[in-house]
Amino acid sequence: MKQYDYLIVGCGLFGAVFARQAMEHGKSCLILDKRGHRGGNVFCENRENIDVHTYGAHIFHTSSPQIWEYVNRFASFNRFTNSPVANYKGELYNLPFNMNTFHQMWGVVTPQEAQAKIEEQRGQITGKPRNLEEQAISLVGRDIYEKLIRDYTEKQWGRSCRELPAFIIQRLPVRYTYDNNYFNDLFQGIPVNGYNALIDNFIDGSEVWLNTDYLADREGLSKLARRVVFTGPIDKYFDYRFGALSYRSLRFETEALDMENYQGVAVMNFTDRDTPYTRIIEHKHFVFGKQPKTVITREYPAEWEPGKEPYYPVNDEKNQALYAQYAALAAMEQNVLFGGRLAEYKYYDMDKVIASALSKAQKELD
Ligand code: FAD
Ligand code: UDP
Repeated sequence: MKQYDYLIVGCGLFGAVFARQAMEHGKSCLILDKRGHRGGNVFCENRENIDVHTYGAHIFHTSSPQIWEYVNRFASFNRFTNSPVANYKGELYNLPFNMNTFHQMWGVVTPQEAQAKIEEQRGQITGKPRNLEEQAISLVGRDIYEKLIRDYTEKQWGRSCRELPAFIIQRLPVRYTYDNNYFNDLFQGIPVNGYNALIDNFIDGSEVWLNTDYLADREGLSKLARRVVFTGPIDKYFDYRFGALSYRSLRFETEALDMENYQGVAVMNFTDRDTPYTRIIEHKHFVFGKQPKTVITREYPAEWEPGKEPYYPVNDEKNQALYAQYAALAAMEQNVLFGGRLAEYKYYDMDKVIASALSKAQKELD
């Protein structure tokens, strides 16, 4: 006799949303996580009475009214709008690339002047961009590429912009308005009571076992439930049969400072080659905190190797082809459903992970 309907491997957003949907269909869930906490990468720790985003800055944003309505059933969101500042050797520029940036870079004032400048700098690049460098120059011109994109991107991804796919940079808006909102989405905010409370509300009613690695005893643990939902790395699930997928990793250095306001903005990007970190996060600004101290995190890019956290999938052609081989195996697993950024090997934002969990849950449960 199985004790649970679902054994959910991973207590990140995918696992938590799947559990919520399963419970709403009267199903019982046991959620496992190999880490010592819930929430996966959206987990926050409290330091100096400040919610610290342990695995990097997380700003919720979506264009989907359905997803926005869904998350608002489980949390209230504040009016935070991400407006990071780029610091290039002490010169400051607004992000994303907009009229403020163009004015700061070239002194242009009107959208027509900015367009003419970019047109001139785009030079010979015409047609479909073949890599990130071509894409960036054709979108914003050579000056912005060289000061705000090239070195930041090469630090972040550990390879040349000529070897990186164009889509990485297509995430960033380019606007001919004076608008520093980093996202184009209709809805944006940070949960007022934090991400941990959001996750707790999703999983309320499920059993959770932390510090439990499913792959260390998959036979024994699978016996506990009728079906398994796996949100860990797909290549690891199949014992790296075709080889390991590539990821980029990160290293975070967090420090509490005895001052109220360190940098005046939640996210500052360091876009030069010599600064070893890519950004500094000042966590209190996500929720307009007024605490007497502040907590900052320096984010360093790192090469991924087994044992390190796999943060960003490297969705180049080689890795996509490898993923396709694993996805074919996954499709043949009768009793296991795969989902989330590691099992689907996708550079997913939170809203996309929720959308994926809702759609997979609907197929499974309806
Ligand atoms: P995860 O959160 O990784 O959860 C998977 C869980 O499975 C983990 O807790 C892991 O420990 C567990 N697990 C894995 N293998 C096993 C095993 N064998 N046994 C038991 N447990 C296992 N998105 C946004 O929308 N806005 C942002 O601003 C944003 N910023 C980001 C910044 C950074 C630095 C990163 C890396 C991501 C960011 N994201 C952002 C993306 C967001 O983090 C993800 O979309 C989301 O957290 C993915 O949820 P998930 O459940 O798929 O994966
Ligand atoms: N990027 C850049 N300069 C910046 C910020 C971003 O060149 O100041 C590029 C970089 O290649 C990065 C991509 O834009 O990988 C996407 O940026 P985003 O902030 O969305 O990345 P994430 O938050 O996922 O790290």
